[in-house]
Amino acid sequence: AKDSAPGVSRFFESRMSRDALALMQIQSRLRQALAQEKFILHFQPQIDVIANKVVGFEALVRWIDENGELVPPGSFIAAAEESGLIVPLGKWVLGEACRQGREWLDAGLPQFSVAVNMSAQQFKHGGILETVAEVLTSTGFPAGLLELELTESILLQDTELVMQTLGELKLMGVKLSIDDFGTGYSSLSYLKRLAVDKLKIDQSFVRDLGESADDSAIVRAIIQLGHTLQLSVIAEGVETDRQLAFLRSFGCNQAQGYLFSRPLPAEDIPDYVLQRAS
Ligand code: C2E
Ligand code: CA
Ligand code: CA
Ligand code: CA
Repeated sequence: AKDSAPGVSRFFESRMSRDALALMQIQSRLRQALAQEKFILHFQPQIDVIANKVVGFEALVRWIDENGELVPPGSFIAAAEESGLIVPLGKWVLGEACRQGREWLDAGLPQFSVAVNMSAQQFKHGGILETVAEVLTSTGFPAGLLELELTESILLQDTELVMQTLGELKLMGVKLSIDDFGTGYSSLSYLKRLAVDKLKIDQSFVRDLGESADDSAIVRAIIQLGHTLQLSVIAEGVETDRQLAFLRSFGCNQAQGYLFSRPLPAEDIPDYVLQRAS
C-alpha cells in the first residue's frame, strides 16, 4: 500500500493529459462554486448613440474564487460548457439578471433592458423556454426588457429546433440579438428567416475602425445589412471617441464599451446613471 500512490498517479498521468486533469479540477471547483452561489454579475451599459442615453445593460458573469478573487468568464465558461455546468450556471445568471433588473425598476430607475449571454447547450438540452418563463414569472421582470444574446453557433446548430425555440421566445415577448456578429458563419438567408431583433458587431471589427479601411467597410456593411432587415445594430468594444464618431456616421443605433464604462457591480449602477444624466 505504501508504494501504491505513485503507481496510481503514474497510471493517471499515462491516461490523462495535464490539460484533462486541470479541466477536471476546474470543473469540480465550479460545481462547488455553483452550490455556494460564488458568482456575481457585472453590468456594462449600452448607450443609444443618437439620444446619448443609457438604454440597457449587458450582464457579464464573474466567478468569486476560493481567495475571493474575481475570475473573468474567459477562464471558466469553456470548462462549464464542457461539463454541462453551463446549464445550471446559465439559469442562475438569467435569474440573477432579471432579479436585478426588477430591483432597478422598483427603485424608480428608467426602464433598462437587460441582456444575458446564452450558450449553445442551454438551447439544445437546457429547457430554455421553461427556464425563461419560470424566471420571468418568479422575478416579475417584463419579458420585453429581457434580451438574449445568441452566438451564430447557436443559431446554426439544429435549424428546425432553434427556429421553433426562437419563435416561441418571441411570442413570450423576449428580445433576441446575435452576439459577436461577423465572426461566425452567418448567411443572409438564415438572417432573414430568424426572428431576431438586433445585431451586435464584434469588437474585433470595432477595434481598428477608422484605422483600417477594410474594418470600416465591414462595420458599415453590417450596419446597412441590419437596417435593411429592420434590425437594430449595436457595436461592442467601443473605446474611443473616434470609433464612436464613425459608428454614428454609419447610423449605428447603440454602442457599448470602455468609452462609456467598464462592466460595473450592480450597486454602482444607480450612481452611474445619475452621473451620466447630469
Ligand atoms: P462578450 O459577450 O463578447 O462580452 C464582451 C466582453 O468584452 C466582456 O468581457 C467585456 O467586459 C469586454 N469589453 C467590454 N467593453 C470593452 C472594450 O471597450 N474593450 C475591450 N477590449 N473589451 C471590452 P468579459 O466580461 O470578460 O466576458 C467575456 C465573454 O464571456 C463574453 O464575451 C461572453 O461570451 C462570455 N460570458 C460572459 N458572461 C457570460 C454568461 O453569463 N454566460 C455565457 N454563456 N457566457 C458569458
Ligand atoms: Ca455578449
Ligand atoms: Ca460573445
Ligand atoms: Ca465579442
